[in-house]
Amino acid sequence: MNTDTKNTRVIRAPTGNELNAKSWQTEAPLRLLMNNLDPDVAERPEDLVVYGGIGRAARNWECFDEIVSQLKELEADETLLVQSGKPVGVLKTHSKAPRVLIANGNLVPRWATWEKFNELDKLGLTMYGQMTAGSWLYIGSQGIVQGTFETFSEIGRRHFDGDPAGRLVVTGGLGGMGGAQPLAATMAGFNAIVVECQPSKIDFRIRSGYLDAKATSLDEALTMIADANAKGEPLSVGLLGNVIDVLEEMQIQGIVPDVLTDQTSAHDPVYGYLPRNWTLTQWQTNQVADPALVSVEAKKSMAEHVKLMLDFQDKGSVVMEYGNNLRAMAEEAGAANAFGFPGFVEAYVRPLFCKGKGPFRWVALSGDPEDIYKTDAKVRELMPDDTFLHRWLDKAREHIKFQGLPSRICWVGLGDRDRLGRAFNEMVRTGELSAPVVIGRDHMDSGSVASPNRETEGMKDGSDAISDWPILNALLNSANGATWVSFHHGGGMGMGYSQHSGIALLADGSDDADEMIARTLWNDPASGVIRHADAGYEGAIECAAEHRLNLPMQNC
Ligand code: NAD
Repeated sequence: MNTDTKNTRVIRAPTGNELNAKSWQTEAPLRLLMNNLDPDVAERPEDLVVYGGIGRAARNWECFDEIVSQLKELEADETLLVQSGKPVGVLKTHSKAPRVLIANGNLVPRWATWEKFNELDKLGLTMYGQMTAGSWLYIGSQGIVQGTFETFSEIGRRHFDGDPAGRLVVTGGLGGMGGAQPLAATMAGFNAIVVECQPSKIDFRIRSGYLDAKATSLDEALTMIADANAKGEPLSVGLLGNVIDVLEEMQIQGIVPDVLTDQTSAHDPVYGYLPRNWTLTQWQTNQVADPALVSVEAKKSMAEHVKLMLDFQDKGSVVMEYGNNLRAMAEEAGAANAFGFPGFVEAYVRPLFCKGKGPFRWVALSGDPEDIYKTDAKVRELMPDDTFLHRWLDKAREHIKFQGLPSRICWVGLGDRDRLGRAFNEMVRTGELSAPVVIGRDHMDSGSVASPNRETEGMKDGSDAISDWPILNALLNSANGATWVSFHHGGGMGMGYSQHSGIALLADGSDDADEMIARTLWNDPASGVIRHADAGYEGAIECAAEHRLNLPMQNC
């Protein structure tokens, strides 16, 4: 990683109605970029790292400053080009074109390895954008809470008759995304033990209200869980340690978790996964002094980790990879049958993707939480029959503290996203909301990603590795006139493993925004339905027919 980035400034997004840029169209990306680096949002803002190992918002502080000053000056008919976190050009386009186009971490496939990326990163030529870090739509752990809540709820329904009370989820990692696990698990009714090797991460999650308690030994954690069971309340415990040590201890004690997964940053073997028997200092020092050694040792540990997960699966645990590429890394270190348990998308999320359902989100540029509560009420009004969504909104209101600009995420699909988006724009127009909102989504969505070990694992027609789909999605969204559009490589799975695109739309109450929102929030999820219908999924073919999508070779 390029370490020449440290800075002690505290960045927070401006709030309220006063513009710092020439229009809301450029104020919006400016605020969202800054919001990504808010100390309440970002994992390591001093290094520009937002989440997910080394996922950054800008290449270095000089580039950050220049993006900010370009956004402040950008005209309503210009487009800023950002190449891996560096502003490289401003061109005259037109008022309905995207204001910012972003490409992060892309490498020609033959060169798409961590080694090549790290070499280029050291030279200051590229940047790891993760998914929403480099596209400025990360909203803190809430963004992932609902996805994880959806997954755990589906596990509860499928494996525990819809009643997970007293059941135990065991997992690793309390970072930017992993920090959502304890809250999502307890919201879905499970207990959770989340093993984390850095005390500061455990404390941070307790402060943000995502984690209930902490422990320094497995016995202490299990006693806490037993007490909680006696009271009939789900509990989450952050357990300090190396996840492999804890799993081995559980194995020795004969404790079989009901659900077992992991969200260490295994996708990045140098910066994301503490090798077994290493101290934190040894890990951090060697990341700079001998990254090759860290990578080899981390992968060896991951092989042990996966073996333990497979053993627990044999003993009856529901085991899945949670999108961190742990199985592939373990396989590289020689683990047998590393893909012997499924990824969470293939197992639980694909049916949603077939309907264009995914992590739709929006952010109140006012900074006023009331704006989000008003949009929550609008979602209930427009989707009166979706009781699961209402439950999520209740739980989110009760448990989720906003990080940075207030925001909300709801998994909704084709036919609902555009309705909600237009309604939010109307609320801005009438003054019901006190300032414009930005609407977007994760890159991990129905039509926006190719990732053979995660979102597109085990596709029905074998098209897992075809990345034409996210490229078409990005091109389509640019044609739709989304306010900013991004295309990234790497993301949650690491170099060479995924390509994906992102969007953000400004709802400023204007007629132009109405048109753009209606077009984009229909076409974007529709592209996901098309992708899955093309792969032969019945659910997607039905959804396409129901919504009268024109799929030339599907007879729809
Ligand atoms: P992060 O780097 O912020 O956090 C990882 C955490 O794991 C760190 O706090 C680190 O201290 C801890 N850790 C590392 N090795 C450990 C070990 N051996 N034992 C215990 N703790 C250890 O990353 P993040 O943003 O939380 O994401 C985690 C991973 O999950 C990434 O690979 C991400 O891509 C993946 N993920 C994917 C999805 C998805 O598919 N949508 C969702 C969430 C997370």
